[in-house]
Amino acid sequence: MAHKPCIVIIGAGYGGIVTALRLQKELMDNEAEVILVNKHDYHYITTHLHMPAAGTDDVQNARVNITSLIDTQKIRFLKAQVTKIVPEKKRVELEDGHLAYDYAVVALGGEPETFGIPGLKEHAFFIRSINSVQLIREHIEYQFARYKQEPHRHDYVTFVVGGAGFTGIEFLGELADRIPKLCASFGVDAQHVRVINVEASGSALPGFDPGLVEYGMDVLRRKGVTFRFGVPVKQCNADHIVLANDEVIPCSTVIWTGGVRGNRLVEDMGFDSIRARVKVDEFLRVPAYPEMTVIGDSSIVFSEDGKPLPPTAQLAIAQADALAVNLVAQLRGQPLRTFQYKSKGTVASLGKGEAIGIVAKYKVKGSVAAVLKKVIDLRYLYIIGGIPLVLRKGNFS
Ligand code: FAD
Ligand code: NAD
Repeated sequence: MAHKPCIVIIGAGYGGIVTALRLQKELMDNEAEVILVNKHDYHYITTHLHMPAAGTDDVQNARVNITSLIDTQKIRFLKAQVTKIVPEKKRVELEDGHLAYDYAVVALGGEPETFGIPGLKEHAFFIRSINSVQLIREHIEYQFARYKQEPHRHDYVTFVVGGAGFTGIEFLGELADRIPKLCASFGVDAQHVRVINVEASGSALPGFDPGLVEYGMDVLRRKGVTFRFGVPVKQCNADHIVLANDEVIPCSTVIWTGGVRGNRLVEDMGFDSIRARVKVDEFLRVPAYPEMTVIGDSSIVFSEDGKPLPPTAQLAIAQADALAVNLVAQLRGQPLRTFQYKSKGTVASLGKGEAIGIVAKYKVKGSVAAVLKKVIDLRYLYIIGGIPLVLRKGNFS
């Protein structure tokens, strides 16, 4: 009997799950065996994580069981922690066992970029997974409870967000919305609570439309956020941070949103990369190992003018779509198509009813942008799970 090629998809985030769904649709029976490996049995909707982190949405809305999304007759799902990928042997090492592949799709996502800043790994929180955001939510609530017991400890109710990229800004919007509710339930005077954003650049969202950024900062300032621009975080401790100008801010909570880098497992393979994001070719393949593709936050692709594209869910989905088409073509001996990307735009939420964005070159802000953001979120749920998932997980409030 002829050997059936085995495609192993490593990681079931945006890139991995969309690849699996596309292959499930396109491949005929017996064309290939497809195995999807992920360390959890659920897919998480990373683009929602700032909400459960702040406690403005239920964490359950950000997770979906993987086997409820895929056809398990066509895609084999394996819940396993990948420990190493060995491209020379076409092998994926797992915590307990290994997998051999003919084609590997590496979609392991990214990790927080801490730039080696002392204390961040030990003391800061990161918005990156279901577990990490549950920790943030519980930690914030605990700080309010502690402050009630020791009202002289203003550091308990000082919340610092490091970095004002899109993740930082979206989290600040949610946190600022949650603070009044926390104050009411813990009996804390809102005057004593501080939410401070520290950003190394001269403004929030460096490089984004200045008018929209100004609008966004005004919204957040009105909700009580204080911005510190042009001064990087230099050090993080359990009860204070130190800025580059040696200023000390006493605080028991630092949420680090200073950027992302590729996954460590991908970095360990030693490919040509920038901040652990592998430079892939025009077919999203690793140049030395054409049977291996890397997509999503662990890959780096460039725009036509040579600038690295920011790692986004939108990009990971576009890569997954293109890659699935090429994998099917490869199996059928057909020519491959080069990956081309056109961003649909960006919309960032600023908490309830407020957002800013650029969509198809149109600038949007306020409630119109907030509705657009909701539509984008619901569209993704529709792509991966159809109307039933939209109804189950869509937050319509
Ligand atoms: P991920 O979605 O992170 O998936 C990686 C998968 O690999 C996960 O399932 C993980 O569990 C699994 N995995 C990791 N390590 C292992 C291992 N060792 N073994 C097995 N499995 C493993 N982008 C947008 O375009 N629009 C937005 O509105 C937006 N909002 C965002 C909001 C927040 C709060 C954050 C943090 C990011 C946001 N992004 C947004 C960026 C977007 O979420 C990422 O670019 C996207 O998730 C990348 O997809 P990915 O498939 O590369 O990785
Ligand atoms: P980012 O790299 O976009 O932003 C990180 C910010 O941290 C930058 O502004 C940087 O100047 C700042 N910073 C770095 N070092 C610092 C220091 N020492 N002190 C203070 N500030 C420091 O990272 P992100 O916001 O996590 O976004 C990651 C990716 O996810 C991006 O591609 C982004 O576009 C995407 N994303 C998109 C959306 C959306 O479309 N709505 C939402 C969230 C994230």
